[in-house]
Amino acid sequence: MRKRIVAGNWKMNKTFIEAESLLFDIADLLSESRPKDVEVVVCPPALYLELTSDIAQQNDFKSGAQNISHHAQGAYTGELSAEMVKSAGVKYVILGHSERRLYFGETDEVIAQKIDKALKHDMTPIYCCGEVLEEREEERHFQVVSDQINKAVCHLADHEVRDIVIAYEPVWAIGTGKTASPDQAQEMHAYIRSIISAHYGSETGDAISILYGGSCNPGNAAELFQQPDVDGGLIGGASLKAEDFVKIVNSFKK
Ligand code: PEP
Repeated sequence: MRKRIVAGNWKMNKTFIEAESLLFDIADLLSESRPKDVEVVVCPPALYLELTSDIAQQNDFKSGAQNISHHAQGAYTGELSAEMVKSAGVKYVILGHSERRLYFGETDEVIAQKIDKALKHDMTPIYCCGEVLEEREEERHFQVVSDQINKAVCHLADHEVRDIVIAYEPVWAIGTGKTASPDQAQEMHAYIRSIISAHYGSETGDAISILYGGSCNPGNAAELFQQPDVDGGLIGGASLKAEDFVKIVNSFKK
């Protein structure tokens, strides 16, 4: 069975004290109730990764980074290498988020290098793909997502691709309150799985977890997660409130 995952992307939010308190609140609520087979991942700002890994380890969740450098090491002021991030106990790393593509000019070629670095250092990349509104309105969304996956993922060997997670995040749904309908999400997730199956065979396609991201909240998560090809969520805004985040984790059918 595919791994079911709920990952919270805190983006650039929370001071140290606030982060610590949110982590303990999440840990407390998870200890009260959670489906046992759902992997919970918390992706704080990099400054809090070590703290997050420590708390996560004691409370049966995982820490994730929001980015890593595509360089291995050296004179790259302000960057964090995969090796450094891994040494803080990190298990997952979000790569190719639309905000990194838009504000930091990340291309799929660079993201492909980051995926390689993450895998080399034994972290699971959560590769984000998705179309902007104009592309959907022009009915180019399948082509856009297919191009993104072909450029950033399809160079991987079969055993490597099984170690990645894909997040479908329609850009028009991120932080906007507009969620993709369960049908829209299912349609794209099935399409993404078909791309992986076409390259690597259906056994590999069936093994890959594909998460939905974009204004997912406690009110809409259950219906999204019931779709056969939706294996969980990448959660932005709602991951900043412990109750909402843990309610989303508990939205999976037990
Ligand atoms: C995200 O940024 O990955 C995201 C899904 O954000 P939000 O849930 O706030 O739309």
